[in-house]
Amino acid sequence: MTLFDSPSFAGHEGVHAFYDAKTGLKAIVAVHSTARGPAVGGCRMWNYASSEEALTDVLRLSRGMSYKNAVADLEMGGGKSVIIGDAKTQKTPELFRAFGRAINTLGGCYYSAEDVGVSVADIAEARTVTEYVLGLSDGPWGSGDPSPVTAEGVFRSNLATAKRIWGQDDLNGLTVSVQGAAGHVGAYLCGKLHAAGARLIITDIAEQALREVAERTNAEIVAPDAIYDVQADIYAPCALGATLNPETLPRLKVKAVCGAANNQLATPDIGERLAASGVLYAPDYVVNAGGIINVASELTARQTGGVYDPAWVELKLVRLMETLNEIFDRAADEGRPTHEIADAIAEARIQAARDARPV
Ligand code: NAD
Repeated sequence: MTLFDSPSFAGHEGVHAFYDAKTGLKAIVAVHSTARGPAVGGCRMWNYASSEEALTDVLRLSRGMSYKNAVADLEMGGGKSVIIGDAKTQKTPELFRAFGRAINTLGGCYYSAEDVGVSVADIAEARTVTEYVLGLSDGPWGSGDPSPVTAEGVFRSNLATAKRIWGQDDLNGLTVSVQGAAGHVGAYLCGKLHAAGARLIITDIAEQALREVAERTNAEIVAPDAIYDVQADIYAPCALGATLNPETLPRLKVKAVCGAANNQLATPDIGERLAASGVLYAPDYVVNAGGIINVASELTARQTGGVYDPAWVELKLVRLMETLNEIFDRAADEGRPTHEIADAIAEARIQAARDARPV
């Protein structure tokens, strides 16, 4: 099979491999789509077993970014980059400057940011040689830590879910089970859910931090694996991917799933099974798009010569909730799972932008 026939290549505009002998940089940048604007997506540093494995991962992730950016209605396309190497032992400032020079050659069709194995400090190092990075913590555009905005998006998605199922405007009388409650997103989320009246059942492997969250939010703590068995109304996965799988599905006793974690469905058919069993699944990449909205505000501020603007972020969050409600409406009307509707909306938005481009 050639690269162009590979299912994961599907629709990509470009794939770029970079090697720098001096620093040992081996990086792949995948540009899935620039139809809606420059391709934006983080850089992952991972000890891939082979360059094929790295290529498969970057193609999958960059396509996902196109969908996420489109569903959040951002004027951005989707892309992603990977650096092949061990983030614990092989990181140097020189490596990230070499990475910065590499993406500089793409002339702004791709903007990078942090992802697994890559920190704000690494991106700041790349920034010394290229302007095509986002997610900085300082400067007039600097959007800082995205986690509070991600948590706000997850919280509003929980409210939208509660409105849809129970017809209420708050979370009074509802129980939310939160996995990863001591994490960057989880801790903020628990505070917001508690303030809105929810009773919380929480878990995390970081025990001390979890106890602190529990004290602040009057939450009940359960062991990590017990979170799937608790009686709750909404399950909010905010730790790991693929926690909705054939093993956990029969254990869940909730009416909805609405959390921050990426790639919650182990396989797409799990989304179908959730829908068939009457569980409302708020699609992960819609629910957690607050983070990318925050990052996008930085790009907008740069393009317009402005500064980081919380009002712009708020407008986009409002729009995101309109999209989530559209997904719920269409899923009900068309009798289809919510994750399929989210993909269909993203695909239609990307295709409309492609169609509007001159040939
Ligand atoms: P984080 O690493 O700060 O938090 C994850 C938490 O999960 C940690 O407290 C960790 O101890 C806990 N955890 C790990 N394994 C666990 C297990 N087996 N059981 C229970 N808890 C466990 O990460 P984060 O930034 O809060 O992100 C959480 C999730 O949301 C991730 O899946 C991330 O990809 C996704 N996400 C985050 C953002 C953001 O802005 N931070 C944006 C979009 C998506």
